[in-house]
Amino acid sequence: MATDMPEVTQCVVSQCAFNANSSCHAKAITIGTGTEPDCDTYFGNHKHTQSQRTAGVGACKMTDCKHNDDFECAADSIQVGDNGDGINCLTYTH
Ligand code: SF4
Ligand code: SF4
Repeated sequence: MATDMPEVTQCVVSQCAFNANSSCHAKAITIGTGTEPDCDTYFGNHKHTQSQRTAGVGACKMTDCKHNDDFECAADSIQVGDNGDGINCLTYTH
């Protein structure tokens, strides 16, 4: 990855078009609806990306997360999964 974005080291949401082998292969994702740390880039689709790159976190709207700095994620990396309340950033801490 050519940027300093935090990596999405794991995402278990296998039905997402950007997911393969429990990893996210989008170029970058956006986290947060403003109230919930959902994956805003989620796209349920039967086709899946062929990319092998590891996604970065390009933007995050969860300003109450301790890792959020100026609408960006400052964590070393994040994980995404289903916490029972939707597809969320599991690294969200507030
Ligand atoms: S992090 Fe978001 S965009 Fe990436 S595979 Fe998971 S749900 Fe899809
Ligand atoms: S760790 Fe916090 S700042 Fe980083 S993507 Fe998740 S909710 Fe946003």
